[in-house]
Amino acid sequence: MELIFEKSRPGRSAGSIPASDVPAINIEDVIDRKYLRSGLDLPEVAEVDLIRHYTNLSRRNFGVDLGFYPLGSCTMKYNPKVNENAAALPGFTGLHPYADDELAQGNLQLMAQMQQYLCSIFGMAEFTLQPAAGAHGELTGIMMIKKYFEKKGEKRHRILIPDAAHGTNPASGALCGFETVTLCSNSEGGVDIDHLKSLMTEDVAALMLTNPNTLGLFERNIEEVSHIVHEKGGLLYADGANANAFLGITRPGDLGFDVIQLNLHKTFSTPHGGGGPGSGPVGVGPALVDYLPVPRIVKTDNSYRWSENYPDSIGRVRAFYGNFNVVVKAYAYIRSLGAQGLKRATQMAVLNANYIKEKLKPYFDLPYDRVCMHECVFSGSRQVAQSGVHTTDIAKRLIDFGYHPPTIYFPMIVPEALMIEPTETESKETLDAFCEAMITIAHEAQESPHRVKDAPLSTEVNRLDEVLAARKPDVAWKKQ
Ligand SMILES: *Cc1c(COP(=O)(O)O)cnc(C)c1O
Repeated sequence: MELIFEKSRPGRSAGSIPASDVPAINIEDVIDRKYLRSGLDLPEVAEVDLIRHYTNLSRRNFGVDLGFYPLGSCTMKYNPKVNENAAALPGFTGLHPYADDELAQGNLQLMAQMQQYLCSIFGMAEFTLQPAAGAHGELTGIMMIKKYFEKKGEKRHRILIPDAAHGTNPASGALCGFETVTLCSNSEGGVDIDHLKSLMTEDVAALMLTNPNTLGLFERNIEEVSHIVHEKGGLLYADGANANAFLGITRPGDLGFDVIQLNLHKTFSTPHGGGGPGSGPVGVGPALVDYLPVPRIVKTDNSYRWSENYPDSIGRVRAFYGNFNVVVKAYAYIRSLGAQGLKRATQMAVLNANYIKEKLKPYFDLPYDRVCMHECVFSGSRQVAQSGVHTTDIAKRLIDFGYHPPTIYFPMIVPEALMIEPTETESKETLDAFCEAMITIAHEAQESPHRVKDAPLSTEVNRLDEVLAARKPDVAWKKQ
């Protein structure tokens, strides 16, 4: 495929308008020369060529609007178009971030309401909408924890992180200067309580726990875990990336969590992938409220304003509106579903994951065979032993059947992991068809393993050198 620059012809443009009937002026007479640049190498194409170029490019990609996208841990749920309509309203898109508070009342009200909704859904005292994504929310949460102990005059150096955790958890701890210590999982896929007891000393600032965890399993001993951590004066951090497994069912605040980051782009149906933008609100219990980023929205009488007046705050973590349009989309999702709808979305997500788990169980190893939450984790170990077909081969073969592959090789405690998350938005027909494809591939792995090992067979390119493709992408690649 040609680059847009290769399609360029001098003088061609996307619009042709009648000759001007007012006298021409020299632009340098009205705009200071230093603001003007010339000789820019911009493509010159007709509108139709422009539209075709980008439409064709987009059709080479795969998205949730094209087909089933069961990427575990990432929650690629369908994004209702009403969210986009709401986010495109001119009052939202046109506001300048530095507009006076009086001119921004509607937007401030939406953010204040969103914070309240999140407080009541998650059982927290306050939320900030500032962080740009989940990992950024983690960093914000850990910065608050650090400041909390500094204020108390306690020197705590360590953060505990289960071996099933997402890589961003230890990264966030390390960025804040903590030593991160790995906490083992037990044979049921939960926290190893004895190991926690042995690690939980007064040198530990927090335990970062994902619940349900990245195996899709709810922590059965959460009350005990919370007790052990708090008894030693530590704080309990919730990685809320899997929140779509418990909306309306339970609340992290009630389970003992002191701080939680959300991923609006996972739980609340806003598009993500390809670098964002996301949104990673952070909710805190009473212990951490003073440390929230500034500015915060305050309501006086019937109006809203930004306030910087929080001396213990960790400061700003980002432009203070956060990724406002992502928040609007998530707000539209919450308002259009309502409390009952959110709960039902969770129930359907859990039902769908268990349906897939039960249907595929005879064909793939299931290391933790218990009721799962919103995702299930298989292992491709049986296929490796039988015919040398690896999980990556199974994932590539799924592309031939028209599906985006599930997450693979994560969590790392499951060898040859295949992590499938169907989301609540998929029908029984879609789940059945996906399971049929998986079962066909399981048979192929035994009977004609080369079909699987050579996959994908239906795409423009087959197996790429993935490291090279990421480091030196050849976007102008042409099929010979
Ligand atoms: C996705 C994810 C994160 C990181 O969130 P981003 O929004 O991608 O920065 C952290 N933890 C878990 C468990 C996740 O699934």
